[in-house]
Amino acid sequence: MHDVVLIPGDGIGPEITQAVTSIFQEAGAPVNWIRCSAGLGAFEEQGNPLPDETLDAFERYRIALKGPLTTPVGAGFRSVNVELRKRFQLYSNIRPAKTLPNIQSRFDNVDLVMFRENTEGLYIGKERWIEEGRHAESIAVVTRDASERVIRAAFEYARANGRRKITLVHKANILKYTSGLFREVGAEVADDYPDITYEDLIVDNMAMQMVMYPERYDIIVTTNLFGDILSDLASGLIGGLGLTGAANIGDDAAMFEAVHGSAPDIAGQNKANPIAFLLSSLMLLHHLKEDDTADKIRQSIYTTLADKTVCTPDIGGAGTTSTFAEAVCKNLS
Ligand code: NAD
Repeated sequence: MHDVVLIPGDGIGPEITQAVTSIFQEAGAPVNWIRCSAGLGAFEEQGNPLPDETLDAFERYRIALKGPLTTPVGAGFRSVNVELRKRFQLYSNIRPAKTLPNIQSRFDNVDLVMFRENTEGLYIGKERWIEEGRHAESIAVVTRDASERVIRAAFEYARANGRRKITLVHKANILKYTSGLFREVGAEVADDYPDITYEDLIVDNMAMQMVMYPERYDIIVTTNLFGDILSDLASGLIGGLGLTGAANIGDDAAMFEAVHGSAPDIAGQNKANPIAFLLSSLMLLHHLKEDDTADKIRQSIYTTLADKTVCTPDIGGAGTTSTFAEAVCKNLS
């Protein structure tokens, strides 16, 4: 049995967590959940969005499946997601977007993996007022070390998974130091991997290329903010945010979560698509080397997608979070 910290999270988090844990149980996945809290719910109940018990558990077990956490917009506490990624140096945020069977979307041949730098860029939270309400400033940090470790992780992933090409995305024409450094490190690391095709593109061009020719791209590596935006875009290419899982990986800790957020507009309505969180949990199983269980659940998801009566409305279904989870459990056998 593997001990894994489980944070259900806010909004739709508890609903999709229930779906995943019931499917894991039915599939006999050898995982022992250590339930913890974080996010807006924890803040409202305990006055702390990242309680000490949660931190202690993550410190001890070094692996977590985390539901989405609400971060107040404009004011209030800072993002717990960003804090966890930084504190445990989960420097690679890996976000695959692959066309799924029986899902209507604009393309039928997307197979992208986004590597988003997860610990610096504009997400370090160094903002200040020069004059309150009139003039604000934000600092972006890019370091050689943090750039190199995520870019190298993308190349290693490419080799390990038989991928052919890496596209580094930047804005070095304008951000000559920060984006310029990331691009420079990319070119240096690429020299160590002559077997992988390497190119770099400016982010605005990349956004256009991705919506016109997604099939031209394979692995994309980029800085924190660009990766955040482009991975939602990639989710849109394959049918929406309900379909893309993610892994935050460091050298000695890992946290798995969906790309999407807490979706307050549909929370508590049994409408949330659990597939994204399920795919994140399959990434967790592969990380634990439980490949057979992961493959069994993936196969059951694919079978279930053929029956639109049980799928959630975001992918054209007439079902609910629970009907989908129940059908995946049934199709496991
Ligand atoms: P969101 O991803 O929560 O929702 C965007 C849209 O996608 C909404 O219309 C929502 O209904 C839909 N959607 C998202 N997940 C879905 C699912 N599983 N099934 C069906 N539809 C789904 O983004 P938002 O509304 O901008 O953010 C809401 C909150 O989530 C914010 O507080 C934000 O900070 C937080 N957030 C957290 C994470 C995280 O925990 N990793 C990531 C992104 C946003």
